[in-house]
Amino acid sequence: MEILKDRRNQIHRKGDEPGSITCEKASVAGSVSQRACVFCGSRVVLYPVADALHLVHGPIGCATYTWDIRGALSSGPELHRMSFSTDLNEMDVVYGAEQKLYHSLIELIDAYKPKAAFVYSTCIVGLIGDDVVSICKKVAAEKDIPVLPVEAPGFAGTKKDGYKIACDALLSLAGTANTDTISAKSINILGDFNIAGETWVIRDYYQRMGVNVVATVTGDGRVNDIQKMHGATLNVVQCSGSMTHLARSLKEKYNIPFIRVSYFGIEDTAAALYDVARFFGDDSMLARTKELVRQETQAIMPEIRRYARDLEGKKAAIYVGGAFKAFSLVRALRTLGMGTVLVGTQTGNPEDYEQLREICDPGTIIVDDANPLELCSFLKEQRCDVFIGGVKERALAYKLGLGFCDHNHERKEALAGFIGMRNFAREIHATIMSPIWKFVPRDNCEDSGNPS
Ligand code: SF4
Repeated sequence: MEILKDRRNQIHRKGDEPGSITCEKASVAGSVSQRACVFCGSRVVLYPVADALHLVHGPIGCATYTWDIRGALSSGPELHRMSFSTDLNEMDVVYGAEQKLYHSLIELIDAYKPKAAFVYSTCIVGLIGDDVVSICKKVAAEKDIPVLPVEAPGFAGTKKDGYKIACDALLSLAGTANTDTISAKSINILGDFNIAGETWVIRDYYQRMGVNVVATVTGDGRVNDIQKMHGATLNVVQCSGSMTHLARSLKEKYNIPFIRVSYFGIEDTAAALYDVARFFGDDSMLARTKELVRQETQAIMPEIRRYARDLEGKKAAIYVGGAFKAFSLVRALRTLGMGTVLVGTQTGNPEDYEQLREICDPGTIIVDDANPLELCSFLKEQRCDVFIGGVKERALAYKLGLGFCDHNHERKEALAGFIGMRNFAREIHATIMSPIWKFVPRDNCEDSGNPS
């Protein structure tokens, strides 16, 4: 397949020669990127704050795009499950929609009594220039709750810019509540979105270790917890793409250190828990962590070994949002005896891609901001057995006759922590070993790259 000239440096084939990959740039026009827009990036991060009002200021399509496709669960309020929109139309584009936004906010706040409101600006609002900031200020003063503008028009950069804008909104909430009761051995869990209850799995580990969790940002998130997150001693960042900006800001403003971790796979989950225990320098906590890791690993290994016997030598392709998840997946697949032959991300940075290059086997294709034609062609060429991605990748896999594993925000299966590794192994095994593939022609993809 011919690669677009402007995309050539965003694709790297690991060989003997050193190589760098171009990344962090706007998607090339015409390549129909798998990546989401700036607005979507901000919405992904803030959506799981469950007791806040989320109002999308834009045409209805933007709200539909992000509505309830996220499996972020709440242990209490469910306001985040509602997708409110100002539903802009032609007249609003011509005359502006500030009054519409004002009245929508007043009506929604009166009806739902949220703890805070996030107002997302979309492409259209970026074009017509509504003063969202001043409307938010006005409503905040009238209703006495934080009303936060999230100025994230879709065209204004990449999905990663949306993460940053969302982090700034969260930062403006932090530091506004009392922290007197917070203990010294306390953390914030940053960058876990409680997909299928994953935050609860991780939180349980920390509780067993004796670590107090102040705020989970943003999975199962609460406005009041975020307001006092500046009282924690350590920030533990899982989704580095989305949350490193917030962690850095909290370090600058409140001098809270942060560490980057991953809860996908046995090795990475254990390393995350040990890193936190070592940070607090508490021997009894370290002993409890060792015991926890021993018990949890022992509980899942027999089943994982059974799956690994069938999966030995199978080949996987990975295309995910953030690079940290990609590193963990490469390692988790090795635990199952599998190799990774294609790996890509939507938002990786140069250091991420260098690290990916180091951990991948020779011949692995590494790709930044891919499009369906490239993925289709590489999946065929590498003769993969399974494709791990999100909702946009699912159809590609099935059209090519490959197994698919959903590792994105839409999934309904918890894949984090030790139990998550067991679920992941179970899912990979079920899809690769499914008898259906005997009846589906593989390589059902024309050389042009068009899935048939
Ligand atoms: S690109 Fe613009 S119009 Fe499309 S979903 Fe994003 S904000 Fe809405």
